[in-house]
Amino acid sequence: MKKFYYYFILIPIILVFTIYGLIAQNDDHRKDLIGVKYSIKKNTTIISILKKAGIKQNIRDSIILQFEKTLNLKQCMANEEIYVFTNSDMNFRQLEYRKNIVDIYIVEYDGNSFNMFKKPNEKKIHTAYISGRIKTNLYETLISLGEGPELVKNFSYIFAKEIDCNSNRSKNDEFEILVEKIFINDKLYTYGKILYASYETDKRLYEGFYYKDDDFSGYFDMDGNSLNEKIIKAPMAFYSRISSGFTQKRLHPVLKIYLPHKAIDYAAPRGTPVYAAADGIIKHKFLDRYGGRVLFIEHDDGYETEYMHLQSYSKNSQPGKFVKQGDIIGYVGNSGSSTGYHLHFAVKHNNVYINPRRMHFESEIVLNEDQINTYCNYREIIYSLLFATKSFIEFPTYCSKKRYLFEYANIIGKSPNL
Ligand SMILES: [Zn+2]
Repeated sequence: MKKFYYYFILIPIILVFTIYGLIAQNDDHRKDLIGVKYSIKKNTTIISILKKAGIKQNIRDSIILQFEKTLNLKQCMANEEIYVFTNSDMNFRQLEYRKNIVDIYIVEYDGNSFNMFKKPNEKKIHTAYISGRIKTNLYETLISLGEGPELVKNFSYIFAKEIDCNSNRSKNDEFEILVEKIFINDKLYTYGKILYASYETDKRLYEGFYYKDDDFSGYFDMDGNSLNEKIIKAPMAFYSRISSGFTQKRLHPVLKIYLPHKAIDYAAPRGTPVYAAADGIIKHKFLDRYGGRVLFIEHDDGYETEYMHLQSYSKNSQPGKFVKQGDIIGYVGNSGSSTGYHLHFAVKHNNVYINPRRMHFESEIVLNEDQINTYCNYREIIYSLLFATKSFIEFPTYCSKKRYLFEYANIIGKSPNL
C-alpha cells in the first residue's frame, strides 16, 4: 500500500521543482548590467573599492553620501562583499553592499539621481534529507558532510534519553535526518526543525518524529512515546570517553589524596561546545582554584547542574539569565586542578549529588488514545515525505509546513489534523 501512494507524491514534487527552476531564472532586472564582485579584506574600504572599479570621484562621493544616511562605513568588516554594476558604457548604475546574508544594501543611480534601499529578504524553506555512516564520531561525520554543529546537537538530543550518539563508541552506526533548512537570499541561514531522525546501531534502530499539538511539542518514537529528556546526561557536542565516573572515593590525580568524585568527567577536545543540560537559570559563574572556570545552572523541581574546567564561557552566559536546554554555555578546557581537557559535569537534586548516568525521568508528555491515533496518522505522512525527499535529496517548499503537510495528506487521502 505504501509504495502505491508514493507515486502520487512524486508527481506534484516534480511539478514544484520545475516551477521553482523557472522562478529562480527570472532575475532579469540587471540583465543589461555588468557586475563585478569585490571582497572586503583587512584595511580595504568602500572608497578604495570604488576607486579600483574606476568610478569617478563625484559619483563616488554621492554613493558614500547615500550610504552614510544609514550605515557607518568605518565599520566595514573583512568577509563582507560588494558588487559594482555598470552599464555597457562602463557608467555606474548600482552598488550592492552585502554585510551578511540578511543585511544587503543597494545604491542605485539612473544617470540623474541616487536612491538607496535595503534589499528585502527572500526566505525559503527546503526540506533536506541527510544520511551517512559514522566514521569517527557523529560530530565529525556530519561536519564532513557540510552540515553545521547546530544540526549535530539537535540530532543527538533527539535520542539522548536512550543512547549517547555523541560519543566515540558510535563508529559504524548509521543515521538518517529529514530537516528543514532555512535559506535567506539563497544562502543557508539556519536549520529549522528536524522532522524525522533515525539512528541504527548493530543492535537496534531508533526513530524519532517531531510532533506538535496545541499544548506540547517534541520528539516521539514509533509508538508515540515521548523522547524528550529532562536533563541531558552528556551535555556537549562530542566526547571521546568518560575519564572519571561517579564514585564516593577516588585518588585525585592532582592532589594525590582520596576524595569523592560526585560527577562524571567527559574527556573531549579543547573548545568542544558545552550545552545547558536542561532549561534553567544561570546561578553562578566564577573562577575557582580547583574547578577552574565554573558555571552552575538552577532548574525546576530542585535540580541543579554544575560544569567545571571550562576554557571559556559563551557570550550569553551571564548569571540570572534563562538558558534553554541545548544553548551553548561554554567550551571544554583544562582550567583549575585538571590533568587534561574534559568537562566535569555534576547534577544535584535537593542539594544532594546524584549520578548523572543513572538519572531516570518519567515522560512529562503522555499521549492519550485519541492523540496516539492522530500521531500515527501524522507519522505516516512524515514517512511519505521522507521517501519523497530521499528521491530528490532536497527541494523547496513554498508554503508553510502546516499547509505543506496538509497537501501531502490530501494526496495520500489522510487527514493530518494539523
Ligand atoms: Zn571531575
